[in-house]
Amino acid sequence: MIRLNDITDKVQSYLPDADIEVISTAYVFSAKVHQGQTRLSGEPYLTHPLEVAYILGELTMDVPSVATGLLHDTVEDTLATMKEIEEIFGPEISYLVDGVTKISRMSFSNTEERQAENFRKMIIAMAKDIRVLLIKLSDRLHNMRTIQFLPLERREAVAQETMDIYAPLANRLGIGWIKAELEDLAFKTLKPEIYQEISDRLESKRSEIDKYSKGVLSIIEEEIKKNKIEAQLQGRVKHLYGIYSKMKAQEIGFEEVYDKIAFRIIVESLKDCYGTLGIIHSLWKPVPGRFKDFIAMPKPNMYQSLHTTVIGPYGERIEVQIRTEEMHKIAQKGIAAHWRYKEGKDGIKKQDAKSYDWLQRLIEWQQDLKDPSEFLKTVKVDLFPEEVYVFTPKGEVKAFPKGATPIDFAYGIHTDVGNKCVGAKVNGKLVPIRHQLVNGDVVEILTGGKQKPSKDWLRMVVTSKAKQKIKHWLINEQKERSVTFGKEILDKEFRKFGLSFQKHMHSQKMKSAIESLKTKDLEDLISKVANARISPQQIIEFFVPKEEIKETEQQSVEEPAKKKQRLKKEGKAGGVLIKGVDDIMTKFAKCCNPVPGDRIIGFITRGRGVTIHTADCPNVIDLSTERLVDVQWDISQEQNYNAKIMVICENKKGLLASIALAIANSEANISEGFLRTTDDNKARCEFELQIKNLEHLKRVIRSVEKERDVISVHRIT
Ligand code: MN
Repeated sequence: MIRLNDITDKVQSYLPDADIEVISTAYVFSAKVHQGQTRLSGEPYLTHPLEVAYILGELTMDVPSVATGLLHDTVEDTLATMKEIEEIFGPEISYLVDGVTKISRMSFSNTEERQAENFRKMIIAMAKDIRVLLIKLSDRLHNMRTIQFLPLERREAVAQETMDIYAPLANRLGIGWIKAELEDLAFKTLKPEIYQEISDRLESKRSEIDKYSKGVLSIIEEEIKKNKIEAQLQGRVKHLYGIYSKMKAQEIGFEEVYDKIAFRIIVESLKDCYGTLGIIHSLWKPVPGRFKDFIAMPKPNMYQSLHTTVIGPYGERIEVQIRTEEMHKIAQKGIAAHWRYKEGKDGIKKQDAKSYDWLQRLIEWQQDLKDPSEFLKTVKVDLFPEEVYVFTPKGEVKAFPKGATPIDFAYGIHTDVGNKCVGAKVNGKLVPIRHQLVNGDVVEILTGGKQKPSKDWLRMVVTSKAKQKIKHWLINEQKERSVTFGKEILDKEFRKFGLSFQKHMHSQKMKSAIESLKTKDLEDLISKVANARISPQQIIEFFVPKEEIKETEQQSVEEPAKKKQRLKKEGKAGGVLIKGVDDIMTKFAKCCNPVPGDRIIGFITRGRGVTIHTADCPNVIDLSTERLVDVQWDISQEQNYNAKIMVICENKKGLLASIALAIANSEANISEGFLRTTDDNKARCEFELQIKNLEHLKRVIRSVEKERDVISVHRIT
């Protein structure tokens, strides 16, 4: 059993000047709060934190990490609180304990394989301080070493989680021995028969393997000595799970796994690495395509080495790894090696680490620090600053770009869920659709049958999937509306000539109209009519002889001049957006002349697009509500709008001119004006103005009000 002394001795072996007082204090505190607790093995609970702290010592971690190893289960499993820890041990250790506790509270078991990567990333994102991860890994390693005491079904879940999450994490952090040990322990739990079989077969060949290994090593040693290279030689049987994965991946039997032994040559310098490689290649014939230079191109987890495979003395394949002492240290300890790692001549160069570029950043930061032992100690690292990881109510984890909202989440589930998203419950609380998600949120999407995507949504989403789906929906809806409008216009036009548009829709004549008017299909033709790119007359010409069109037109002209004039004045209502739709015929209602700033509403007419009224226009009240549509001003477009004002003033000479001047000075144009005198010697002037928006109109009214002898000014509809 590990004792406190073992831990402090270990720490002092690599940190001779360390203040180990805090480790003793942590030990006393942990012993007190865990008092009376036992592990499933029957041992006192305290053995676990002691073992974890010792593993952290083996990783040459700093004092706060080792102390946290002793304290890591106190908040989760005893009556101790975070507040107590902070009071006694200060902010740094309490931050680490809190980090480990948070990860311990999450269950990553029973996950599908595709989820594992997200879980790993989430753990890293949540850990922030990389020491939290190393403490968690040490915790898991000891729990795996004692897994046989768990009930069977728990055992499998924990082993699977170790295989899916923690062993790859150890690998990513470059801690080779923890990765290998975790894999073997999990493998033994999950596939005990296969594990046993491989283990037995290795055992039965133990002496044979040993003899063979010694033979190969002595040949290498002799040759290296001749070349005056100092080297340490190792011939080790690979870890069982490594052998098993190779058998599985290459679909080969145990006998065929030629590289059960990993030969390793550790030399003193970079130059010797390549020198030794030359020696090996001159001794035995290299297998083409098997040489890998991880020195020039380190692995993302910082691993550096030369790998080669050669045909050995008995015609068998031999895998050889060549590296320096420093490289070996990194291969064993990975990121933990950096605590006390001083960069030497053969130090780590630029990493080619696309997927794990955060490691790259860590290394760069470390190089910027004057004292390498300060590495990461004080830096709170946001390892995945661009991503957030959140849960579905079922515990599935999903990754999103930072800034993602429930709408992104909803589209991530299904397009229909996205289209109908009205809000969400995040961690049980209601939030609006624009709410930004953070790491660890549990998100439940709320949908509503009447909900529809709108243009605003495009500003609330960050995933391309959501953007694309919303745009798609908007375009479709716009198309649908255009087609409905277009059909109404054409129905009316056809009826004028006693024809049915419905009946002629798919006729040969319609086909030639589609072709000659250069439209794609019937739908395209109809929407072009709705958008006023094609006139209904252009289409009717294909169905009715020209003379007849002329006659009908003449008959239907009642007050042609007046009608034409009205149409011209109404114009097109630019500057108005219909919710979720572009490119629909709109015009302003003559009754209320809305201007930007007014609350407005649209009325879908039969065949003539949408008429825009002010929301309080008395005419709107009489209109049928199912034809009303939400509209809003498009402030991106600046243009002039018509508005009428009524000015009541004393009937004095020259007053009209000064009112007109006041209007002009407020940068508004007068398009029409009427003046009527009344019996009481007052004048009522009605002006139709061209103004920019409601603010502008108010400004005009105020400046007219200021004129002497003006009694009142107000807008009229
Ligand atoms: Mn623990």
